[in-house]
Amino acid sequence: MKPRRFDYVRPDSADEAVAVLAEYGDAASVLAGGQSLMAMLNLRVAEPAVLIDIARLTELDYVRIAGDQVEVGAAVTQTRLKDWPELADQLPLLAAVLPFVGHFQTRNKGTVCGSIAHADPSSEIPLSLATLGGEVVLRSQRGTRVLAASEFQRGMLTTAREPDELITAARFPILATKRVAFREVARRHGDFAIIAVAACVKGGSAVTVGIGGVADRPAVRNATINSAAAAKEMFEQLAGELEGYDDIHASARLRRDLLRRVGPVVVEEALRCAA
Ligand SMILES: Cc1cc2nc3c(=O)[nH]c(=O)nc-3n(C[C@H](O)[C@H](O)[C@H](O)COP(=O)(O)OP(=O)(O)OC[C@H]3O[C@@H](n4cnc5c(N)ncnc54)[C@H](O)[C@@H]3O)c2cc1C
Repeated sequence: MKPRRFDYVRPDSADEAVAVLAEYGDAASVLAGGQSLMAMLNLRVAEPAVLIDIARLTELDYVRIAGDQVEVGAAVTQTRLKDWPELADQLPLLAAVLPFVGHFQTRNKGTVCGSIAHADPSSEIPLSLATLGGEVVLRSQRGTRVLAASEFQRGMLTTAREPDELITAARFPILATKRVAFREVARRHGDFAIIAVAACVKGGSAVTVGIGGVADRPAVRNATINSAAAAKEMFEQLAGELEGYDDIHASARLRRDLLRRVGPVVVEEALRCAA
């Protein structure tokens, strides 16, 4: 199928993008890398009157350390973050995760913030943001607000973004340790995850676990895990709590089963990492 007709705007600044959003509201769509939006346009799942192309806004094309966070502007592609020389030191979880996000061709166009805006429950980048306890920066003509990842993603492809708001950046907290691990199960490398598990050890045996693909948004839990049996028990409980869902890729039951098997392995891997 082909998209319905739409107007195309390429603003020269974030302020201009925000002004067009204020004018059109939910009749406008922000176009970042287009890796999800173009398919939605072609399938007529999205039928905006106007596309606001922010991909070449240089003011949003930055990765910078700001205090104890790494701030990633909305025009930064997944490849640019993956190739950031400080990634492994500052954001080891993202270094582990980004190779699993699609393929190098999609990463060359797809943006970090576009993935967060799209809010697919299987997506690795929103999962990482939620696991690390990161934030999303939203700007409109009404002002700027910063939402915790847990407040931002509300459900399957649903966020707290208002129609007149532009996501200008995502902020990923810098961990004091490199004790992280990530694994996903997908039909092929580069496909969306059926389930994904991330773990960060925040000191001793205090672990934060993030789970993607099992609920309608990333599920994050903190726990003290000091034995393999404790890890197994935690994921047994989580599998019951999160229930899972059926789609063309997997049944809810398979998702729960994968979580029980993969979860403890990821936690043990993170606990084994040297700080
Ligand atoms: C073959 C293929 C395989 C893929 N595999 C994976 C995978 O394994 N894992 C994964 O996570 N993703 C995968 N993707 C999706 C890819 O990562 C996309 O890049 C991502 O979902 C969206 O980023 P984008 O920059 O392309 O956003 P777009 O497609 O341009 O936009 C997506 C949505 O977010 C909105 N949006 C984007 N930026 C902003 C902003 N700054 N402010 C407000 N709204 C905004 C758009 O309006 C739209 O609704 C795959 C895509 C393809 C084509």
